[in-house]
Amino acid sequence: MAHNFGIAVHGGAGTILRSTMTPEKQAQYEGALRAATDAGYHILAAGGSSLDAVAAAVTVLEDFPLFNAGRGSVFNNIGKHEMDASVMWGKTLEAGAVCGIANVKNPVQLARVVMERSGHVLLCGHGAEEFARMQGLAMETDEWFYTQQRYDQWQEALKEDAVQLDHTEKKFGTVGAVALDASGHLAAATSTGGMTNKKYGRVGDSPIPGAGTYANDATCAISCTGHGELFIRSVVAHDISCLMEYKGLSLKEACHIVVQDKLVRIGGEGGLVAIDHAGNIDMPFNSEGMYRACRSSNGYNSVMIYRD
Ligand code: ASP
Repeated sequence: MAHNFGIAVHGGAGTILRSTMTPEKQAQYEGALRAATDAGYHILAAGGSSLDAVAAAVTVLEDFPLFNAGRGSVFNNIGKHEMDASVMWGKTLEAGAVCGIANVKNPVQLARVVMERSGHVLLCGHGAEEFARMQGLAMETDEWFYTQQRYDQWQEALKEDAVQLDHTEKKFGTVGAVALDASGHLAAATSTGGMTNKKYGRVGDSPIPGAGTYANDATCAISCTGHGELFIRSVVAHDISCLMEYKGLSLKEACHIVVQDKLVRIGGEGGLVAIDHAGNIDMPFNSEGMYRACRSSNGYNSVMIYRD
């Protein structure tokens, strides 16, 4: 019998309220989440790998300026974009990541190339960008990454001398995907512009294997979004895997403990998407909302934004 397969994606968690959303904007978000999920799902349905599926889904989301990743990345405190991304392959526990990079059109693809061709796990800044050029990845100008909405958000944050999480409108627009393929292999990918007005050189949880991203065929695949500093300190993604592996908890139980209890106790706002080796999907968050969607061969199929 063929193995179950499925994919879950997120477009960030935070204060996402019905009262501040227009029907047009909501339709755009839902359309983008659906497009990303379907891009990955079609690969899985054709027998492709979960690694291909998560990379394809995250690439779709990076190309939508709606999300804080790739083209829609936020500005840091010196008015620049510094992006972080990672992938992890549960079959071999191989991982690839980049942090503090600019001008790379699709950071998730660079993370994958780092995993497959660099002999390293994590490349940063100019070295990562040079590696991208050497590997023939698509590059774009600073102007291409400019969006008025992100610029205005940065100006607001500058006025208050705050990083984005101190805003009344807290939003973490990171994107990510997790998938299980028909061969039983898990993969995860995450990509972000970080947090608005973050200090130049700051790196969050997204490119850190075990913190913002993790995949292990023995347990689950996880991609996180939220206040990165707290997610790093909580080693969120690996903690969920460990609770499953060492304590025998289900995916849902493990996610609940980490997202609704451990993170909440230290003030770590955010959420994650998760899939286990049997194809069970969970998309927990402790913020007001999280852009999320999933689709699987065993019946999951949804696009959601709010708590209810
Ligand atoms: N976790 C990301 C970071 O701290 C932000 C996000 O999820 O939007 O860089």
